[in-house]
Amino acid sequence: MLPPRTPRPPLSGTVNADIAVIGGGFAGLSAARRLSQLDASLKVVILEAGEIAEGATGRNSGFIIDLPHEVSSEDYGGSDTSERQHDIKVHRIAIALAQALANEKGWGKDIFDPCGKYNVALGLQGDKHVASYAKQLDKVKEPYKLLDAREIAAVTGTESFTSAIFTPGTVIIQPAAYIRGLADSFHDRVKLYENTPALSFERQGASWLVKTPKGAVSTAKIILANNGQAQSFGLFQGQLLHVYTYASMTEAFEPQRLGGQRSWAATPAFPMGTTVRRVEGANGDRILIRSRYTYNPRMQVSKNAIARAGRVHDRKFEARFPMLKGIPMEYRWAGAMALTWNGVPAFGEIEPGVFAAIACNGVGATKATASGIAAAEAALGQDSWLVQVFRGFAAPKRLPPQPFLTIGATANLSMKEWSAGAE
Ligand SMILES: Cc1cc2nc3c(=O)[nH]c(=O)nc-3n(C[C@H](O)[C@H](O)[C@H](O)COP(=O)(O)OP(=O)(O)OC[C@H]3O[C@@H](n4cnc5c(N)ncnc54)[C@H](O)[C@@H]3O)c2cc1C
Repeated sequence: MLPPRTPRPPLSGTVNADIAVIGGGFAGLSAARRLSQLDASLKVVILEAGEIAEGATGRNSGFIIDLPHEVSSEDYGGSDTSERQHDIKVHRIAIALAQALANEKGWGKDIFDPCGKYNVALGLQGDKHVASYAKQLDKVKEPYKLLDAREIAAVTGTESFTSAIFTPGTVIIQPAAYIRGLADSFHDRVKLYENTPALSFERQGASWLVKTPKGAVSTAKIILANNGQAQSFGLFQGQLLHVYTYASMTEAFEPQRLGGQRSWAATPAFPMGTTVRRVEGANGDRILIRSRYTYNPRMQVSKNAIARAGRVHDRKFEARFPMLKGIPMEYRWAGAMALTWNGVPAFGEIEPGVFAAIACNGVGATKATASGIAAAEAALGQDSWLVQVFRGFAAPKRLPPQPFLTIGATANLSMKEWSAGAE
């Protein structure tokens, strides 16, 4: 939806760096930003296999969520009160980085909107989840507003939702514009190379040599921020679950076809349900539907899988917005996430001088940003509160062997989706 962008040239030849960051998503670019904040003299090289904003980081639903939001848990929380408060503090560190960038860039609400989000219900079960979420928020003393069917209809312009809860701390971004802006925010000593996959890295005396198709980076330290693809270096084998989620977005439509507010964002009452956004645009508004999770150990999804998810999206869209019947989806896509069995990041100094900020566990706009910041601080020897939190996570639990893993993961996702029902 954005105008084309000319990518930075790929790396050719050998360059030296103090730190090489592998991966230009939320984790990698946030790590690079934190590195240059902490020491502007550092020479940082970022290697991005593809182009900035063309992967999951640029193509998500755009929620930077402040509150606990475990996609794999029954009720988002998944932990006790003090852990939840901990999580909230971590999430707000990530949001602060994003907010500072937005201030620097002078972004408007079309790119960075601290408008909060709704959790919406579509029936009795969803209403119960909304009510129980309110109780969790009471325990962690976070503000919220409960909305009945009439009140949420006034926001969304549809009478489909039966109740909702509004929480004010989530920031809604245009993810591709956000991440392009972050990539373009670096000073001269931070160099980004696009279309430059890191193929391998090996010790070379006291430093590391990261090889790319047409060059290499000789570097003292590495931050690995390439999410599930870390496995292509032989790392975290049997510890990362490659889960894809899917989204569709309508063509722009005349704003008056749908009442309510022109811009709002809603996650489902059930974590495994359907996310919906209305995106206001100069040429009309669009609805985004994000739904479905599949387990794809080969880290690829087929066109058929996207088409199948698309049919689910069409049904969800029609059920929620009967007044928009006939407006086709203009875009459909899928994106990868790396989850761990015990929901922890794959974080830390995995070899001397090599720091991992892997396994977003779904909510990567927030969590991968935070883990990138923590990896940068750890790489510079800082023992900040955030580093201590990340170091305190257990190691990712070993997954069961195949074929039990595929059978179990597929059954688990299907069961959770089934229990989310219409939500
Ligand atoms: C449809 C969809 C909707 C979503 N909605 C939300 C949402 O609203 N809020 C939220 O918090 N999360 C959301 N997510 C999840 C979120 O997008 C991910 O959690 C997040 O992108 C993870 O960030 P990351 O930086 O860890 O990894 P990625 O975004 O996967 O970035 C890793 C980068 O590393 C690069 N790379 C890989 N291998 C190499 C290599 N060898 N060398 C160099 N570079 C390499 C990749 O090209 C990629 O750019 C959504 C995901 C999808 C697919």
